[in-house]
Amino acid sequence: MTANKILFIVLDGISDRPCPELGGLTPLAAAKKPVLNKLAAEGCCGIMDTIAPGIRPGSDTAHLALLGYDPHKYYTGRGPLECEGSGISMEPGMIGFRCNFATISKDGIIMDRRAGRIHDTQALSGAIQEGVDLSAFHVGFSFRSGAGHRAALALKGEGLGHCVSSNDPKKEGVAPLTVKGQRQSQADQKTADICNEFVKQSSEILFRHPINVERLNKGLNPANVVLMRGAGEMGDFEPFSRKYGLSGSVISAASLITGIGNIVGLEHVHVNGITGSQDSNIAGKIAAAQAELKKKDFVLVNIKGADESGHDGLAVQKRDFIGKIDAALEPLLAQEDCIIIICADHSTPCTIRDHSADPVPVIIRGEGVRMDSVVRFDEYSCATGGLSRIHGCDLMPIALDLINKAHKFGA
Ligand code: ZN
Ligand code: ZN
Repeated sequence: MTANKILFIVLDGISDRPCPELGGLTPLAAAKKPVLNKLAAEGCCGIMDTIAPGIRPGSDTAHLALLGYDPHKYYTGRGPLECEGSGISMEPGMIGFRCNFATISKDGIIMDRRAGRIHDTQALSGAIQEGVDLSAFHVGFSFRSGAGHRAALALKGEGLGHCVSSNDPKKEGVAPLTVKGQRQSQADQKTADICNEFVKQSSEILFRHPINVERLNKGLNPANVVLMRGAGEMGDFEPFSRKYGLSGSVISAASLITGIGNIVGLEHVHVNGITGSQDSNIAGKIAAAQAELKKKDFVLVNIKGADESGHDGLAVQKRDFIGKIDAALEPLLAQEDCIIIICADHSTPCTIRDHSADPVPVIIRGEGVRMDSVVRFDEYSCATGGLSRIHGCDLMPIALDLINKAHKFGA
């Protein structure tokens, strides 16, 4: 018997370094996690440099690598991925930005970079889409709300460059910066000019928008300026279905991850109650993934939350959250006809509160997998496993081979 489907579970930022609060263990090594241990015992384990040894991955570049899209070739900044995640359909050559709504004073000083953590900004982005006129530049644009105070902007037209600076000074008490071209190129300058005009016109619309008038009356910070960053040009991604001959779906609360999924043609499956935080409906994600596997060949699930604890430096919280994830994964023990891959996209050590290049543990479990002697899912145990040390880009070829879909190299 050969498995014919792939379930790919990415536990975002779950791996770590030794934590003093945990007696020198990592949160994963310290956590109670019978299900992950059982999956490890039933599978073949290893450790993985998501991109390459010593390269600290972002979640975006890491997920591209895990899906087999070399980030050195495909990654051009976070903007286009955020645009896709916000529902803008990006075409090769379009320029994308991550944006957020912020508050400026009447004299143009940034008072709050998150506009009082405003949410449900669809009416504001709708007014901007309606009211901003960039026809003088002969370009089209799409502006969409994201989660909370976030949004995304895409530009489409001839002669646009993507090497432009941000207008976000990353601090409050100063005015937004002027967007500038970063190379000596007319294309970059054109994009910069468009950005500055967009910010000016959108701000005029936001200042007089009824939602903001009401927020001011209630003593809340209005969302009256758009800060933009992460400019990038949309690349030409080979669709996942053509690259691997597999249909697929993505399940994630993070628009960055669903954006990557959309770009390569994975269908976004909505699950109620998923937040990308520790209160997320993880069991719901697993149930949705198992239902999706009845229809599709491949499902990518991203479970965030542990990454958050790492960024906050909370080792005990991270350990306990791993226990919650573990409990939610229980139904996977009965999953058949399927290669299950479980790994992290990068380490997020509590001691450094950011992503590190430390390799991450991996399990590959399913029909035909050569079981090794590893019986625990953690950074140390997996390092002794049968996969040894692999790269993120190796995972899809290995999984494809296990479902008998790899092309033979040679005769
Ligand atoms: Zn991540
Ligand atoms: Zn992170």
